[in-house]
Amino acid sequence: AVFEQIERKEGTIHAYLDLYKEEAFERAAQVEKGMAEGKYSGPLCGVPIAVKDNICIQGKRTTCGSKILENFVPWYQAEVIERLEKAGMVIIGKTNMDEFAMGSTTETSAFGVTRNPRNTDHVPGGSSGGSCAAVAASEAYLALGSDTGGSIRQPSAFCGVTGIKPTYGTVSRYGLVAYASSLDQIGPVGKDTADCAALLEVISGYDPKDSTSLQREDLCFSQALGGGIEGMRFAVPKEYLTEGLSPEVRSAFMVVLEELVQMGAIVEFISLKTTEFMIPAYYVIASAEASSNLERFDGVKYGFRAREYDGLHDMYKKTRTEGFGEEVKRRIMLGSFVLSSGYYDAYYLKALKARAVMKQEFDRAFEKYDVILAPAAPYTAPRLGESLKDPLAMYLGDIYTVAVNLLGLPAVCLPCGKDKAGLPIGLQMIGDCFMEKKILRAAHAYE
Ligand code: GLN
Repeated sequence: AVFEQIERKEGTIHAYLDLYKEEAFERAAQVEKGMAEGKYSGPLCGVPIAVKDNICIQGKRTTCGSKILENFVPWYQAEVIERLEKAGMVIIGKTNMDEFAMGSTTETSAFGVTRNPRNTDHVPGGSSGGSCAAVAASEAYLALGSDTGGSIRQPSAFCGVTGIKPTYGTVSRYGLVAYASSLDQIGPVGKDTADCAALLEVISGYDPKDSTSLQREDLCFSQALGGGIEGMRFAVPKEYLTEGLSPEVRSAFMVVLEELVQMGAIVEFISLKTTEFMIPAYYVIASAEASSNLERFDGVKYGFRAREYDGLHDMYKKTRTEGFGEEVKRRIMLGSFVLSSGYYDAYYLKALKARAVMKQEFDRAFEKYDVILAPAAPYTAPRLGESLKDPLAMYLGDIYTVAVNLLGLPAVCLPCGKDKAGLPIGLQMIGDCFMEKKILRAAHAYE
């Protein structure tokens, strides 16, 4: 069914960079046999899944949406891929993404744009736009994305699907091409909370190959879905409802608050004074880490090398000039700047301090509340081509998602309405660290 749908839709949507049709059918038959022999069990056996192209599958091209990795074939396997295979899942292909996961629209990919299945004149969001578009178009039932500053939640919102950004350290980053290592997490994208919870259960767990991996014992996420919402305490940061939030997203969000109260929840407004520091702190820290992580793409170790050059340094320079796109170069320059001596204290250190103050503010909120509610984005999916004109405006669009990554928190994004043009609107439920079960229970009760 998935490949029939791909046949019908992929020509317009372009959610995938690579498809493994033959192998997927072989694998499905093998899993079916394995199930009969008792080798595989569990709810996701035989379920097809799409994987964002910054997650390494051994022997399969992993491009990160970048020309510099156009022909890079990893010789190792991401831990999450090992776990999908153990669960008997069938990987059907790699999905399009913003180059190195830097962007909010999937338009910075070196391999063409992905269209939003809900309205093909619009972007699917980003950076996991391919994964979310694939699920929205039923070109996959589940997908893996990665979220550094909102890249699972925002495209889930724009495409009208559900996505989870897990607590930092819950899912191994081994084999995920690093963007900003202290913020990156892999997470599930699916049709609803139950599907996402089942997939999260499969991919979570301690991995000694990732030094930031956590040993958690509370990973039975599907079990959390039964309970209702009654008596749960929700906080709404009033700074999130000020300028910049589109009237349509705002009114859909206000309807949610009323519905939650009707369902027996307690909903109160709080103040997060650090809201104004979120975007600057995120872009300083994310770019700083990116500039360091992307040093490895030098024309020697991976993928692309410039054809003509004059000596080693010229080779580095030409390879990176030709191999990286505009947005990635902008981040490398910004990151190198904020880390350089003389500016380090003023920008990078300052951003780390802002992060610490933010942590205190969220900690205080979670002493009193189970869930913080927020829109996923200030607006619905922009038209294709609109966002690239003004990168700063695009950065500001991440206002509701980045704090979650800076603080390592879990968050689920689920559909909560549509605008006049029929484009989906997403709702975020943010929990304290390790409180996936609470937010999943609330999301499942609400959806
Ligand atoms: N839009 C944000 C950025 O460009 C978030 C991206 C992400 O989560 N990977 O950095």
